[in-house]
Amino acid sequence: MTMPIALAGIGKIARDQHVPAIAGSSRWALACTVSRNGAVEGVPPFTDLAEALAAHPEVRTISLCHPPVPRFGIARAAVAAGLNVMLEKPPGATLAEVAELERLAAAQGVTLYTTWHSRMARGVPAAKAWLAGREVTSVRVRWLEDIRHWHPGQDWVLEPGGMGVFDPGSNALSILTEILPMPVHLREAELDVPANRQTPIAARLHFSEDVEVTFDWLEQGDPVWDIVVETPAGALTLEQGGDRLLIDGRDQAVAGQGEYPALYERMAELVETGASEVDVSPMIHVADAMTLGRRIEVAPFEW
Ligand code: NAP
Repeated sequence: MTMPIALAGIGKIARDQHVPAIAGSSRWALACTVSRNGAVEGVPPFTDLAEALAAHPEVRTISLCHPPVPRFGIARAAVAAGLNVMLEKPPGATLAEVAELERLAAAQGVTLYTTWHSRMARGVPAAKAWLAGREVTSVRVRWLEDIRHWHPGQDWVLEPGGMGVFDPGSNALSILTEILPMPVHLREAELDVPANRQTPIAARLHFSEDVEVTFDWLEQGDPVWDIVVETPAGALTLEQGGDRLLIDGRDQAVAGQGEYPALYERMAELVETGASEVDVSPMIHVADAMTLGRRIEVAPFEW
C-alpha cells in the first residue's frame, strides 16, 4: 500500500531526484506539491503548506527540498502540523536548528529524517563493513566538481548559510562519518573565499588520524568524488561518489537501488515504525571548519 506524501521546494534536486524516486516507489504516492514557483505535472500544486494540508488531509508526510536557510521555518511548521518530515541535506543552516527540530518532532510523536543521500551510494555499506574493526593508517578525500554545472546560478550557496563548497563537501563527510571505524576531529583548515562572496569555493581540511580532505568547486570537466582509506590490510577506494568500491585496486561487486530510491525506502520504514533518524555528524565537521579554518581571499567568483 502506498502512503501519500507532499513534496516542497520544487527546484533542481526535487526535479532531478525526488520526483523520479517517488514515482518509482511502491511505498509512496505524490499527493501534492508546496512551492512558490515550482510544480510537478499532473500533481496538485500549492504555494502554502496550510492550504495544501486543508485540501489533502490524507497527507501525513512531507519531503523538504529547499536550501537550508529557508527550510527551517517550513520544517518547523510541518512538524507543528503533525507531519512526518524528511529533510534534504544538509539538515539545517545551524546545528541548533536541527536540535530544535528533533526536539519538536519527538514532542509531536512524528518522524524526522535527516537524509544524507551519499550514504546510500552503492559502495558505502560494503566499505563500512570492510573497514569495521580495522586499523586505518590514513585517509585521502578529493571532492572536486564544477559549481557552474551542479548549482547553475544558485547564489544561495555562496551566501551565509549556503555553506559554499561544503554543500557538496558534506556528501563526502557524510560517507566518511559513516564508514570510518574511529572518530576523527578537525585540527586545521584553509578556506578559499572569493572576494565578492561569503562562503568558501575551495577548502583543505586536516583532521586527526592522518585524514586529509580537499574540496574544490572550480574543477572543470568530470567530477572527482574519491575517498582512499589505507589500512595494513590494503587500500579501500570509493570512487564516483561512493558508487564504485575497490579493495587494493580490485573492483568489488556492489548492488543497490540508487541513492534517492533508498532514501524514500528508509523514510517509509521510519514512518511505519514511528522512528526518527537524526544525524548531524557531517555538519559538525563543517561547523568546525568554519570555526577553525583560516580564511584566504581568492579571485571574485561570477557565474
Ligand atoms: P534550488 O533549486 O536553488 O532550490 C530549491 C527550491 O527551494 C527552489 O526551487 C525554491 O522553490 C525553494 N527556495 C529557494 N529559496 C527559497 C527561499 N528563500 N524561500 C523559500 N523557498 C525557497 O536548490 P537545489 O539545488 O534543489 O538544492 C536544494 C537542497 O538540496 C540543498 O540543501 C542542496 O544541498 C540539496 N541537494 C542539491 C543537489 C544538487 O545537485 N543541486 C544535490 C543533492 C542535494 P520555490 O521558489 O518554488 O519556492
